[in-house]
Amino acid sequence: MTAPPVPAPGEGTAEGTGQGMPRTQTHPIRASTRLVALLGDPVAHSLSPELQNAAFRIVGVDGVYLALRATPETFPHLLRGIARGGGAGNITLPYKEAAFAAVARRTPEAEATGAVNTFWEADGVIHGDNTDVAGLLHALACLAPEGLAGARVHLLGAGGAARAAVVALGRTGISAVHLWNRTEARARALASDLAGQVPFPIRVEATQSKISADLVVNATRLGLHPSDPLPCALEACPPRALLLDLVYHPAETRWVRDGRARGHRAADGGAMLVGQGAAAFSRWWGLPAPVEVMEGALDQVRREHR
Ligand code: NAP
Repeated sequence: MTAPPVPAPGEGTAEGTGQGMPRTQTHPIRASTRLVALLGDPVAHSLSPELQNAAFRIVGVDGVYLALRATPETFPHLLRGIARGGGAGNITLPYKEAAFAAVARRTPEAEATGAVNTFWEADGVIHGDNTDVAGLLHALACLAPEGLAGARVHLLGAGGAARAAVVALGRTGISAVHLWNRTEARARALASDLAGQVPFPIRVEATQSKISADLVVNATRLGLHPSDPLPCALEACPPRALLLDLVYHPAETRWVRDGRARGHRAADGGAMLVGQGAAAFSRWWGLPAPVEVMEGALDQVRREHR
């Protein structure tokens, strides 16, 4: 990596309690400080700055994480300029596919999904990863610690997050994915692109009036706005099905809240956010991420918004 030298954990600027959250907020910006940027549009709602800056402080790395709104014209210049200047970053909507094209070397997860959400420079080459796959695996492990061997999965959506979900599910031992998307042609394209890469069939469903699955995953955007309809009717889900919503905001999503009220084990996209951020942290700094600190920062933001 061409990144500046990384202090050992505990050195540098942060002091930790060892219980999740930093005791001090000291985080000086210096000439040596490495810029790690989230590029997207919009970015103002993102919770990644809270999670990453808390992690930077506790580990003591000399970096600062900022969210930068990019336009289609500025995006590739920002990505390359930040990476060439020794920085690194994340990419969010709508630029993950553009980032795939902008980086020179990609991880297998980026290749499989056709999308990049994390970039950095090493040995003069700009690298890209899709840590949404690791984030999904972290979220699934939190929701179903007993594992998912043999499970049937109903997946809603066929965008970038759904692609990452299918690739992640390919490592969990599930038996089948039933895929529904508002635009059926996009679901068929996803199924045909990923069929050869996962060890289970992907069946495209035209309706979702009756769902037969052990796990239902919402990878649509529904739930981002309070006025959104639910991604699928809870009455259509088997009573024992697990529900995983990839959407997150400071409060629980309505699908998760209503699902829990009906007795489902359910989680929103918070754990995925932490998991993808932790994997990105390791790419940038070559160090394990302080996952509990990131979880603590997310909990704190959520408490403040209650
Ligand atoms: P995307 O590529 O733009 O795909 C959006 C998906 O939502 C498509 O399947 C789209 O269906 C569907 N959709 C949009 N509006 C809809 C509506 N009114 N009714 C039904 N379906 C609708 O976005 P993405 O990157 O996959 O992200 C999807 C969600 O996952 C977002 O909410 C994002 O915030 C979340 N996400 C969370 C994390 C995390 O860390 N927790 C990480 C990545 C993504 P069509 O194909 O018909 O348009």
